[in-house]
Amino acid sequence: MRMTNATMFARVLASDAGCNGRFFFGVTSTGIYCLPACRAKKPKEKNIRFFPTVEAARAAGLRACKKCHPDDFARGADPVLETVEALVAEVRANPAAFADAAAIVRRSGFGTTRVFELFRQHYHTTPADLLLRARLDAAKCALRGGDAPLATIAADAGFESLSVFHGNFRRLNGLTPAAYRGLREARGFTVALPDGYLLGYLRRALSRDAHSLTERMEGDVYTSAVQLSTGPVLLTLRLAPEQIQVEVERGSPTRSAENAPGRRVPPSDSLAVEAHALVVGLLGLDQDATAFGRLAKRLGLARLVAERQELRITQTPSVFDGLLWAIIGQQINLSFARVLMRRLIEHVSGPLAGELYAPPTPAAVAALEPHDLLARQFSRQKAGYLIATARLIAGGQLDLAALRAMSATRAERTLLAVRGLGAWSVNYLMMRALGFADCLPLGDTGVTSGLQSLLRLDERPDFDATRRLMAVFAPHRSLATAHLWQLNQPIPV
Ligand SMILES: [Zn+2]
Repeated sequence: MRMTNATMFARVLASDAGCNGRFFFGVTSTGIYCLPACRAKKPKEKNIRFFPTVEAARAAGLRACKKCHPDDFARGADPVLETVEALVAEVRANPAAFADAAAIVRRSGFGTTRVFELFRQHYHTTPADLLLRARLDAAKCALRGGDAPLATIAADAGFESLSVFHGNFRRLNGLTPAAYRGLREARGFTVALPDGYLLGYLRRALSRDAHSLTERMEGDVYTSAVQLSTGPVLLTLRLAPEQIQVEVERGSPTRSAENAPGRRVPPSDSLAVEAHALVVGLLGLDQDATAFGRLAKRLGLARLVAERQELRITQTPSVFDGLLWAIIGQQINLSFARVLMRRLIEHVSGPLAGELYAPPTPAAVAALEPHDLLARQFSRQKAGYLIATARLIAGGQLDLAALRAMSATRAERTLLAVRGLGAWSVNYLMMRALGFADCLPLGDTGVTSGLQSLLRLDERPDFDATRRLMAVFAPHRSLATAHLWQLNQPIPV
């Protein structure tokens, strides 16, 4: 779709980073060309010219701007992003070397405001929060790997005291460090829920598809077949107001698991460790629901969070599950997407226990041919995208596990480069499967109708208006999206 000059000029005035790469602009009075997001002084309309590429701008006799580096962008290089990523890698490798957020700022070489802006843009969080999570990850690694005293582990990870370590560990993981260490030999565990946790919304999320082949909700018992690194297991969650009891049971191997080539087999005692990480995502324990609730109220939008301030985004059991939903769910209604998903599962997977099937693996989907899916009412395009993406993963060109550790910006670019994944699917996947906090699935009808109702707009906002209206929720746009999806739904009991 070609943009008009007037639209492009408006994007330049808005410093719209989403338009970077879609066009470049030159300023005849200064002789330079820039990215749409350039923060330099805005040119007068009569002096501006637009170019599809940097080569076209150079051919017109213009030079690259030294502020926004349009040539680097065009080459795919992004030196500021690379600097931030290197800094975060340093923090994660040795969190104890950074006493606090100020230490991260000092190490960065940027000013405080700029560092906060960069962490928000590229990691959807603050330096202090990223540091806390790096410490907890370091501690978890130590807890899984050895028997050092808890005080030593806390100090090595950089925690100022054992009680700070304990409090944060329990809040974000639902169990104590000692209980986490015990997972190595466990077949089950109990996760404590934070105050005000919305069990009704969790129940709704877990029982959304009554005909699902992989999960089932009966009363307060949720059973789900999931893929862990060693193969499929059966998870059973017993829901209660203050805690969730989890049991992990190894399923009999299915066709797909046997066929998976090069499957890495970790020691079997790590089943509960892996299941715990999955359950934390399912419950959304590591999301900052409280901060979002405060923000919504501060914005005068208490109705958005009324009676569900603690709402969390239920993460898909695996990134591949999220990817299947993101591709299958494009441009069709949810009930037909569920039908297609069931047909895919029946075709590539087998029953694990009772009537529950193991979810499809990338290897199993990669082995399909388009006609297998066309016969099951998939469109030619969807079938092509699913198989091609599964082959990228099975062939090692797309590493789903690595996405979580990437900056949000890098993860987004990596996923956008996959054919068949557009801006909506990528942002959906990032918020539902990768846990990024500031995603906006632009074009989502639940978001636009939610905004229209919340803000009493005469009509549904278009792309630009949606982007502008959602900007106030940064860096919590994923939770804002989840709340907008629930806005006109009945409150669950
Ligand atoms: Zn510039």
